[in-house]
Amino acid sequence: MDTVANLFNPHCQVHSDSLLEYFCVDHDQLCCQYCRKKHSSCQNTMSLTLSSEGIQFSHKVSDCMKQLKTFDSTCQDIINNRDHCVAALKTDVRRLKETLSQNCRIDKIENSLNEKLEDNLKKLWNEKQYAYHLKREVESTYDKIVFATTHGTNEQVFIWIHTFDWELKKIESNIRNAIKSLKRLKNIYHLK
Ligand SMILES: [Zn+2]
Ligand SMILES: [Zn+2]
Repeated sequence: MDTVANLFNPHCQVHSDSLLEYFCVDHDQLCCQYCRKKHSSCQNTMSLTLSSEGIQFSHKVSDCMKQLKTFDSTCQDIINNRDHCVAALKTDVRRLKETLSQNCRIDKIENSLNEKLEDNLKKLWNEKQYAYHLKREVESTYDKIVFATTHGTNEQVFIWIHTFDWELKKIESNIRNAIKSLKRLKNIYHLK
């Protein structure tokens, strides 16, 4: 089980021994006492305590959760799509075999046909497993937000959600890449 303490790092990423204590609204940036000096001319720099009021119920949190829900259903779409492709592929091969056996040509190409089928099924299965892996990652991140907003202080949640963008971006790019690399099925009819 996560503890609140190991979920939140309250230290500045630039000045690692210094605590994050301020927030610059103009730059949407967390600051420690040293970083804050760079924002001395900014209009809206305030303490973390003040800026984090009501964070649990903020748009920032609900937007992250909404985005994760979308990622989750995209992963599910990939899984469903691969299942659909497996079924379609099996039907195609069965029909092809029926046609060929009527022409008495099945023996010659059956091995090659089975090989291609196996090959395609393996790829589809791998892609489906990877989509499951991404989906679990999305779900555990979602659980972390729920946990954090339930157990963390305002300041902790505020820091966490503001350093969270990169994690969302990482998940998003993994999903994009997964979609991009979905194999186009080799045409099973192109057999010699
Ligand atoms: Zn700093
Ligand atoms: Zn600033």
